[in-house]
Amino acid sequence: MANREFALVLHDIAPITWPDYRAFVEEIDSMGEIPMTWLVVPDFHHRSNTFEDTDLLQLLHQRRERGDELALHGFYHCDDAPAPRTPRDYFMRRLYTYEGEFYPLSYAEALERLQRGVELFRAQGWPLEGFVAPAWLLGEGARQALKTQGFTYTSDPGQLYFLPDYTPIKAPSLVWSARSRWRRGMSWVVNERARRRHRHEPLIRLGLHPVDMRHAISRRYWLTTIRRLLEEGYRPTTKISWLQRHCSQHDQTGALSSRMDTRLENARPEPNPPLNN
Ligand SMILES: [Zn+2]
Repeated sequence: MANREFALVLHDIAPITWPDYRAFVEEIDSMGEIPMTWLVVPDFHHRSNTFEDTDLLQLLHQRRERGDELALHGFYHCDDAPAPRTPRDYFMRRLYTYEGEFYPLSYAEALERLQRGVELFRAQGWPLEGFVAPAWLLGEGARQALKTQGFTYTSDPGQLYFLPDYTPIKAPSLVWSARSRWRRGMSWVVNERARRRHRHEPLIRLGLHPVDMRHAISRRYWLTTIRRLLEEGYRPTTKISWLQRHCSQHDQTGALSSRMDTRLENARPEPNPPLNN
């Protein structure tokens, strides 16, 4: 099968998480030229400020120069809004995840955090095309605010979405739930099944989290999977590079190409994956 690609996506990049990733990224680098998408959190949990950390900033500059993509991933990442009041909010914000920073925000609050994030990228001279909400959760206020900031795309585990109109493009993800032993055991099986099920898709995304690096089984899974994809002829890409090459007519004409229309017909919502972050 020709022209299949994979996008390696590193979630939750911040000074405090970088030590988890460092050796893994070195190992990936040793496999050849494999571009990655780095999801940068400006101030992880209010205590790990990426844009005040000169070492991490320098590293991100170097990664960008070698072709990696830097995208904005929330601002603080954690959901520290007032306690949930409705059963649905309780489910989404306490049982499903604690990390849905952009789920409870009002339009004005989301706008303010997005603008600060955009400004931080601009001050570094970094192009910014992608925004990924922590835990992939966008509340209605944030969804509206995100339309106004000039981003090219956002994503959840099943799709990429062109902004500002949220046009979906099917792009399945492999994601681990590495927090508990039984979830880790399940994740290998679940992800292998997903990888095989999606073997005809032109793009598969690998969504990695810092916690995956702390457990031998998840770390090994990712290395094994990346080697296997390369052996099977998949080419590595970043999300924005893939979007620009496959959907260029979207920008030029405002209309989707026929190829895109086919993708849309095939797009189906995926069941929610188990979440780490
Ligand atoms: Zn995250």
